[in-house]
Amino acid sequence: DAVVRAENLGKTYSEGKLVTPVFGGLDFEVHAGETVAVLGASGAGKSTLLHLLGGLDTPTAGEVYVAGQRMSALSDAARGQLRNRALGFVYQFHHLLPEFTALENVMLPVVLAGSDVPAARQRAQALLESVGLGPRLEHKPGELSGGERQRAAVARALVNHPACVLGDEPTGNLDERTAATVFEQMLELNRAQRTSLVLVTHDRRLARKLDRVLELHEGRLREVAAADV
Ligand code: ADP
Ligand code: ADP
Repeated sequence: DAVVRAENLGKTYSEGKLVTPVFGGLDFEVHAGETVAVLGASGAGKSTLLHLLGGLDTPTAGEVYVAGQRMSALSDAARGQLRNRALGFVYQFHHLLPEFTALENVMLPVVLAGSDVPAARQRAQALLESVGLGPRLEHKPGELSGGERQRAAVARALVNHPACVLGDEPTGNLDERTAATVFEQMLELNRAQRTSLVLVTHDRRLARKLDRVLELHEGRLREVAAADV
């Protein structure tokens, strides 16, 4: 029941004569409902790994499977559809569309997945309310606080009930207290929907709250025992 699986996964960036090997031989699975932290120093390859898992970049070795589908075997269109249906993304920066309200931003992935507008509105509104943004539905991102924007981004990531949410330092831009609140809400939503979570972070305290911790170090991925996080 792996929702995301990496098989002998490797990435080397090449730009002309500049060759940067990032990692190789990565093997791991993320099971349904499981929450996994990926730790590592800056430059260890955490964002690269997340991009490969999300099909936003292609590996130079090995394979990624999402919901049982081999990413490299899909056309760009099919990969895009799988991404919108099976995965949710949350980044350090919210990436909400500035011209649209919070509600519209969260409705958009639902409409893109083929739902009609009233159904999309209903689901988006329910999710925004569950992260405390009921009074902010009609606000545009520029009219929201940093924490509110990230909560809207979390709602957007989860609104299509993805199998897995990929998070790249989703609370990295927030002050400590706001970060803790947004993080807890993200975990609660993940639990409620039984969505898996792969969370890239350099924050060991956050990592400890997840089911499993992996660490990228010198091109390898190792499992870290809870006591050692
Ligand atoms: P982290 O997220 O752990 O900080 P990254 O995945 O961003 O690490 O980067 C891993 C390594 O790959 C770094 O050495 C970085 O400079 C390099 N890198 C990242 N993106 C690119 C790119 N598009 N082209 C070339 N090198 C890159
Ligand atoms: P950057 O140069 O920092 O990658 P972009 O605006 O291209 O800036 O992307 C911003 C973030 O959005 C990056 O983390 C990127 O991986 C992610 N991203 C880009 N395209 C997509 C996409 N089609 N779906 C989901 N995330 C994307």
